[in-house]
Amino acid sequence: MANFPYDVAILGGGPGGYVAAVRASQLGLKAVVIEKDKLGGVCGNWGCIPSKALINQAEAYHAIEALAHMGVKIDVSGLDYSKVQAKSRGAAERSGKGVQFLMKKNKVEVVSGTGTLTGANEITVKAADGATSKISAAYIVVATGSRPRELPGMEFDEKQVLSSTGILALTSLPKSLLILGSGAIGMEFAFVMRTFGVEVTVIEMLPRILPVEDHETAAVVEKAFVKNGVKFLVNTKASTLKKTATGVELTIEKDGKTEVLKAEKILVAVGRVPNTADLGLEKAGVKLDRGFVLTKDYYQTDAASIFAIGDIIPSPLLAHVASKEGEIAVEFLASKLKGTHAPHEKKLDPMAIPGATYCEPQIASFGLTEEKAKEKKIDYKAYSFPFTGNGKANAIERPEGLVKILYNPKTHEILGGHTVGANATELIHELLLAKKAELLPEDLATMVHAHPTLGESVMEAARGVEGWAIHI
Ligand code: FAD
Repeated sequence: MANFPYDVAILGGGPGGYVAAVRASQLGLKAVVIEKDKLGGVCGNWGCIPSKALINQAEAYHAIEALAHMGVKIDVSGLDYSKVQAKSRGAAERSGKGVQFLMKKNKVEVVSGTGTLTGANEITVKAADGATSKISAAYIVVATGSRPRELPGMEFDEKQVLSSTGILALTSLPKSLLILGSGAIGMEFAFVMRTFGVEVTVIEMLPRILPVEDHETAAVVEKAFVKNGVKFLVNTKASTLKKTATGVELTIEKDGKTEVLKAEKILVAVGRVPNTADLGLEKAGVKLDRGFVLTKDYYQTDAASIFAIGDIIPSPLLAHVASKEGEIAVEFLASKLKGTHAPHEKKLDPMAIPGATYCEPQIASFGLTEEKAKEKKIDYKAYSFPFTGNGKANAIERPEGLVKILYNPKTHEILGGHTVGANATELIHELLLAKKAELLPEDLATMVHAHPTLGESVMEAARGVEGWAIHI
């Protein structure tokens, strides 16, 4: 192989790209990251981290109610949302600095500018001042991420028609907000906005909210949101949007009838589009399908020296997925260049990828839902253990929640795990570890869990599968 100044050049410094760079460096590869904006990508700057900073503050605000039960009097009239938003930006900034530190520590070179593939081993970078440079490497990993999907007639102006980026940039609260889409992003912002007193209406085209989650766990979230005053319109199609001097008017179609909804702003959260145009991918021999890059084992594209990971490939658009894909790709490259062991996973097992939504109550899952199992005609049984039977949930007054296991009726192999309620996004991992390690519910059922913990619900759900849950 020809001599290249770098073993691997990584296009994009989000959780896919920067994690791939650190792992490459750990394995002795010389890596460079090309980033046109800020290190950390959408996740660190306009996604996971700033949104969780808002959610954390919304939860703190919500907790005021618990203080009121103790007779504590708090005057909430001084709420200054610009300070809430500033804290969220602070979290994003710290996250970016953290990634900068990791690049330095791991001796990964970072080049600022917009990169385009100009050969199987070459990226041309255009800096902000217009200067261009060329970077060549034995291998290229493309990790350019995604952007919010725009709907025709509802283009983002980030004033009245907001994307997830626009809503994270708001420094004052609207009086009312329409949210198109009840996926993770829509539901997280619905929680934040409603908690701070905004009138929130969520519009969902499908028959129920959180459509990718199991119906039973999604119902727990729906009940809690409705109790908190969020309005849901399901089976509802948004047809046209009109901007007015005071806000927006959205025409919807439901049950054959048309209605106009008015609000100060609208958040359009109906999915994301991969950033794959104008990168020179096709010219370099990379195959795409509807904008997503197609990959083989180890995330290699049809061009042998080019790999693709993260939001630009058709796997779940999640930060931890992007990172893991990056690790697998560069571990494979190290095996080729340095003779280290190839990763044992050629690609992520889609049945063992956790997904989480951090609203309150939290919801998380992996593998099959009941709906998917039925659709795929997979024989299954399900057991759900409710938080009402859990001592800790009752002590902390959080009885809304459950742990659900879908399993093979003959072998008891875990087919899906679902958690909803307090700490659900942490609890999911015990079930997932069992799945990954090919443990059975009986292993979880017989492991001693500390009391009182929410984790005991996982043990009880596993006992339920075996027919002997105690606290129900
Ligand atoms: P990105 O993070 O999009 O990074 C790509 C990087 O490439 C960017 O920095 C971009 O500037 C750069 N780039 C693009 N083109 C070029 C070019 N030509 N030259 C140089 N650089 C380029 N996921 C979770 O797992 N958990 C969550 O809680 C979560 N919350 C989210 C909340 C919101 C509001 C949003 C919008 C997303 C959330 N996500 C969450 C999704 C998560 O942010 C993405 O899945 C993740 O960021 C994808 O990582 P990536 O590395 O593929 O791409």
